[in-house]
Amino acid sequence: MDDIRPQTSRFVTSRPRRALVVVDVQPTFCEGGELGVEGGNAVAERVAAYVKEHRDRYDAILTTQDWHIDPGEHFSDDPDYVNSWPPHGVADTPNAMLHPALAQIDADAHVKKGQYDHGYSGFDGADDAGRSLESILTDAGIGAIDVVGLAESHCVKHTALDARRNGLATRVLTDLTAPVSPGQGELAREEMRSAGVEFLSTADL
Ligand SMILES: [Zn+2]
Repeated sequence: MDDIRPQTSRFVTSRPRRALVVVDVQPTFCEGGELGVEGGNAVAERVAAYVKEHRDRYDAILTTQDWHIDPGEHFSDDPDYVNSWPPHGVADTPNAMLHPALAQIDADAHVKKGQYDHGYSGFDGADDAGRSLESILTDAGIGAIDVVGLAESHCVKHTALDARRNGLATRVLTDLTAPVSPGQGELAREEMRSAGVEFLSTADL
């Protein structure tokens, strides 16, 4: 028997509901912070300007924050900058708050992660009501996300890879993120690309 579908499905192209996920845009990851990424403050300003201008492109705006309480070996006095790091994103400290540039971002949910572990991915976290990022996205009917924020080589990468594992169409907006170093950024992009993540500049949207 032939595949029978409602006739309209041939003609109606449904756009997936899309969320913007703003990863770890916190002073701790910007110049002057405990793990400052070069260009971090500029990323914060550009994300804020982008959201202000293009809020209507998104069905939800979500933020994530590193929010470490006792993350075990994630912190070290003698960090290797691969698996261990100097203390950063310490819960309830000023540098763990959202970057001041994002004050007007009016996000629909704020996810905090890494309380007792590495928490590299936004999908490891939950909002203050205890909802995981996955359940927030599912409840909002989101099928596609744009990932921006810090750092491209670490938490942006892990969040984008988990998004792909969750079956979401995933893009990284290249001018709204920055890696820890150019080399680590290149490696992260290869890894994300092979997982099906797309890369676009906001100028190309
Ligand atoms: Zn961390």
